[in-house]
Amino acid sequence: MNLAKVIVDVPTMQTNEPYTYLVPDELNDKLQKGMRVIVPFGNGGRKIQGIVWDIDNNGTFDGELKEISGLLDLDPVLNTELLDMSKWMAEKTYSFQISCILTMLPSVMRAKYQKQLVLNDSSEIDDDILAIFGDDNVVDFDVDEYPASVLKKIIQYRKENKLSVEYKVSDGAKAKKIYAIKPNLTTEQAKEELTKVRKNSKNLIKILDFIINHNDKEIAQRKLVHDFDIPEAAIKSAVDKGWFARFLQEEYRNPYQGKIGTNKPLKLNDDQQSAVDRISAATNRNQDTVFLLEGVTGSGKTEVYLQSIQKALELGKTALMLVPEISLTPQMVKRVKGRFGNRVAMLHSGLSNGEKYDEWRRVNNGEADVVVGARSAIFAPLDNIGIIIMDEEHEASYKQDDSPRYHTRDVAKWRASFHNCPLVLGSATPSLESRARATKGVYQLIKLPHRINNQSLPEVRVIDMKEEVKNSGQEDFSSELLSAINNRLQKHEQIVLMLNRRGYSSFVMCRSCGFVLHCPNCDISLTLHMDSRTMKCHYCGHEEPIPNKCKNCGSKKIRYYGTGTQKVQEKLQSLVPNARILRMDVDTTRRKGSHERILQKFGNGEADILLGTQMIAKGLDFPNVTLVGVLNADTSLDLPDFRSSERTFNLLTQVSGRAGRAEKKGLVYIQTFNPDHYAIRLAQRQDYELFYRKEMNVRHQTNYPPYYFTVKISASDVNEAKAAAKMYEIAKILKAKLSDQAIMLGPSPSSILKLKNKYYYQIIIKYKNEPNMKPCLEYILNHYQKDAQKGLYVNIDPDPLNFM
Ligand code: ADP
Ligand code: ZN
Ligand code: ZN
Repeated sequence: MNLAKVIVDVPTMQTNEPYTYLVPDELNDKLQKGMRVIVPFGNGGRKIQGIVWDIDNNGTFDGELKEISGLLDLDPVLNTELLDMSKWMAEKTYSFQISCILTMLPSVMRAKYQKQLVLNDSSEIDDDILAIFGDDNVVDFDVDEYPASVLKKIIQYRKENKLSVEYKVSDGAKAKKIYAIKPNLTTEQAKEELTKVRKNSKNLIKILDFIINHNDKEIAQRKLVHDFDIPEAAIKSAVDKGWFARFLQEEYRNPYQGKIGTNKPLKLNDDQQSAVDRISAATNRNQDTVFLLEGVTGSGKTEVYLQSIQKALELGKTALMLVPEISLTPQMVKRVKGRFGNRVAMLHSGLSNGEKYDEWRRVNNGEADVVVGARSAIFAPLDNIGIIIMDEEHEASYKQDDSPRYHTRDVAKWRASFHNCPLVLGSATPSLESRARATKGVYQLIKLPHRINNQSLPEVRVIDMKEEVKNSGQEDFSSELLSAINNRLQKHEQIVLMLNRRGYSSFVMCRSCGFVLHCPNCDISLTLHMDSRTMKCHYCGHEEPIPNKCKNCGSKKIRYYGTGTQKVQEKLQSLVPNARILRMDVDTTRRKGSHERILQKFGNGEADILLGTQMIAKGLDFPNVTLVGVLNADTSLDLPDFRSSERTFNLLTQVSGRAGRAEKKGLVYIQTFNPDHYAIRLAQRQDYELFYRKEMNVRHQTNYPPYYFTVKISASDVNEAKAAAKMYEIAKILKAKLSDQAIMLGPSPSSILKLKNKYYYQIIIKYKNEPNMKPCLEYILNHYQKDAQKGLYVNIDPDPLNFM
């Protein structure tokens, strides 16, 4: 028997065991491992998507087997490397293999399921139901489109088998097609035709001239129209005459077409050269060494990446480069595309789904051998990888928040060892985990301790805002920062101001009773948005008008608290009326390409001040910026999270690094209510080494990573008691199995107890060596799936990035 093992996608009934299907004869010679297929599942034979895990042409099976119903691909979409990886990843992240596979593929390749209503027997069926079908006996069917009375009838007819509900599986992956033209005539034939056409048939003459000069060439119809000035109608009549063959051709959407200049390799300094030498030696010798490239801001890490990639390409290998969120770093895109041109494929969230699919296919077809992208680009279908780079390896966005909760670094290590190639982790402020491994010798440490041209790091001054508020009543701009701003404006130098915002900062409070307006669905305060004049929930999107009196006591004494970027912009504009201010935050960057536009304007000197949230801290390289101000350093310190000091230190160091990158010296102000906190003091000195030692000490004392492993398990339900009860049940299971050394925090409500109308309870476990942990978590993963059908979800987050 020809059998195939298929990993199926059955929401809320997932399993990591593949199902066996019969391969029908007509698919026998077509079916390959790694192809997407459609298979019937369960008693109803509902059609679902699956992926072929294995094929056995001499299989035996006891019992009844269903047949594969159809193929979605002509070539495999996952090679054996990625198939193997999906299995490893499911185990590592306590998730289901199918969700790992779907994460690896462009989102358009997830089949869509459309419910359909099928009319089996039209006798004795009410007219209003028949009307749904019109002339057909199958229609798309969305439950919420029909009133209850109609649904009731449908349910009844279903029971009587007069109607049935089926699922249509449709593939969203469509290549864009365009018309292409190929001449059908030889040069001689065309010359012959030329003698026959009338002198005033200008377009036909143009066409024949084209054939005479380019007679073997295929060309896009569009190009023929534009470049050769031949109207579409004339092309059509040439096709009718048989001069041209016209056919459809796949086209790649290229989002960067013609936008990027070239950039040549720079002459490396000694530190950079020795870094490139060490990294490319590993590429050369096929060693899967992990390098930690610790280089201060402006030390030229990017040039090291580019030249190490170059070395790998020279050996005929491919390269994979990851950046935290590419739409935030257009400058990086420019540098890589400028260096390697069309060999580069970009994979990131700023592209449309179609563009992403096209870039993915260029990689899959071997037409691009350098991939640059954000988190999910780690799954790019490259062969023969010679180097993997993770820039800003400490960034939180490398960990996925939803299942599968993978960390890009772990996947990168897996791929590096599969391809026997080096992995380069780069950062000015490496994660404690990575730095600890480098100290132990598990990773090789490479340092770039100096800025390019030995430019000094900027001077950083800390301003105690407690004093400032006492003396001047100013909460946003201290007098010192303001006078520095005025000074730079006079000198025509540029300024970057960062507002460290975590969403809760601007809210409305009643000064009579203290009432704060909260989201009705979530347990957090609503944020004030002046542009739309509404209060918005940043979690669920709920929106309502700004109140003019207190909803609790009716008082009109309402105060707008906190510092949203809009409000700060208005304030700043009133303080420096002549300054040209650009704002960059989620509101001004929602439209595609707006990051690039804002940064380009700033780079062109069309503005004096760039005011923004965390998104301006990374990767910007503007030589005319000499002043950086952090308006409120504290918001990230206040979070209930063991990594808050590390995050604050990293952020302040990164943003400080934006100042004084060229000849002019930089100055940085950090405004804070906690001027003595070590994260702020050490960021002021830009002393990563001391911060690392201090923070390692704190983690050691409090039993946190990297000394301990952690796992977070949470349960959510619309009913608070149910979520809590489930967590107590799980805690009991774990307590029985784990040793005394494991430390359990909770069960307790999550920091944001209520989100999108669901309540969250969680436990955190800190542990060192627990052989029972893995089987326990696997049990929880499989056992609690049946609850998901009732809306109670249990989530496992290994090595969570935060405990909130
Ligand atoms: P990092 O990523 O370490 O912050 P960058 O790679 O952005 O640093 O480099 C900082 C600046 O120095 C960039 O403008 C870059 O073009 C320039 N640069 C890097 N390497 C060299 C070099 N070898 N010679 C001259 N300029 C360089
Ligand atoms: Zn009130
Ligand atoms: Zn909400």
